[in-house]
Amino acid sequence: MVERTLAIIKPDAVKKRVVGRIIQRIEDEGFEILGLKMLHLSKEDARKFYYVHQDKPFYESLTDFMSSGRVVVLLLEKDNAIKHWREVMGATDPAQAKPGTLRRQFGFSVERNAVHGSDSPQTAEFEIAFFFG
Ligand code: UDP
Ligand code: MG
Repeated sequence: MVERTLAIIKPDAVKKRVVGRIIQRIEDEGFEILGLKMLHLSKEDARKFYYVHQDKPFYESLTDFMSSGRVVVLLLEKDNAIKHWREVMGATDPAQAKPGTLRRQFGFSVERNAVHGSDSPQTAEFEIAFFFG
């Protein structure tokens, strides 16, 4: 089934100058890029985007990090896009992520893990609307 998902190249990966390599991987994996933009989230934007985590101990630090520099947001389309993109990203903690995944390759820590991806059709709908209307 053709699906859409929302990907973010996080501030750590933008600072490391690996945006191009991550976008190349997205295209090599067969995703169609339907939308792409670079922006600098405010703390308030980051808090709204990650509201599902508002009660987690890492919420303040995560939203500080996500508003610390520029990000690239991408609207991706493909068969099974949500699951496929999460497989390409790898586990949340780069140290646990499988070899060949983007988080293993480019992530620095459980927080600074290079990329984001929607985790369900419902989240994808919210996250795509958040950035692409
Ligand atoms: N995160 C963190 N500490 C944790 C778990 C998550 O800083 O213990 C950050 C990390 O950047 C992660 C984001 O919060 O990507 C959202 O967490 P989630 O559990 O949704 O992981 P994801 O879906 O991104 O793999
Ligand atoms: Mg998540």
